[in-house]
Amino acid sequence: MTSLSQLKERFHKTIAKKMCSVKDMPNCPNDKCSCAISAEIKAYWWFVIPKGYPQLSIFDFDGKTRAGKTILDPIKALDAKKKLIQYCWNGIPVDKLSERNDKTEALLRHFSVINKRRERGSSMVIYGSEEGSNPSGKTFAASIVMKEAIAQRRKPEFCNQTYFWVDYQTLKKSLQDGDTASVDYETCDWLVVDDIIADVGKIGSQKVQYLSSLFDPFFVYRYNNRLPTILVFRMDVVKFDPSDIFGRGIGRICEDQDTTMVELSGGEGNKIAGQ
Ligand SMILES: [Zn+2]
Repeated sequence: MTSLSQLKERFHKTIAKKMCSVKDMPNCPNDKCSCAISAEIKAYWWFVIPKGYPQLSIFDFDGKTRAGKTILDPIKALDAKKKLIQYCWNGIPVDKLSERNDKTEALLRHFSVINKRRERGSSMVIYGSEEGSNPSGKTFAASIVMKEAIAQRRKPEFCNQTYFWVDYQTLKKSLQDGDTASVDYETCDWLVVDDIIADVGKIGSQKVQYLSSLFDPFFVYRYNNRLPTILVFRMDVVKFDPSDIFGRGIGRICEDQDTTMVELSGGEGNKIAGQ
């Protein structure tokens, strides 16, 4: 895996060349130039967010794959996009964000409310059943939020924030082992827990008790300290109550009135494409 400092070095070179026509950051002739911070933000995006997503943004969120194949019902995709905009840039009408240009980029900067989400500790739950391996846009949706959180590094007061992206199985193992990473996940400013799934039919009370003892202290800590958590469920959390499966800690985040619920059901791609 490429380290954060390697990514910084790489982006410092490309961005200094592109923005300031010099071969590296120290050669930048401009006083208080933003090239260094732009490179740093880009390095964090590539370091934290899963491959394939850092280069995408809210403008690309249209319920289709990059190849143009429809994977989401257009109305549901629009609903999800509205929720994402409300969480990150409250007040921008969804139709203003169909095209990426200087004007719409400025709009995003002006309307960003992500720091309020951090202050209040407002979480997000992205959920929906999935069939097979068809994409559903869930990781994409989470990446949009994480990108906006990281972009706040351009303001000095947010440049010490920390971010982690972990999948459910890795988090579970980390908590079982009690390793140092589990402390990082528990205390970071922004956390995405991806790929949360349980075999609902096989959940017995002993299993629930076990998961609860493992996860409750972790999620209760994040909840009580108002640290925003983006939970990505590959299952329907309206049909199956997460408290009954994963314990009260996760349940508390899902039930918090400040949590934004975003439904994205996958696996309908072929059906829609075939209509
Ligand atoms: Zn510069």
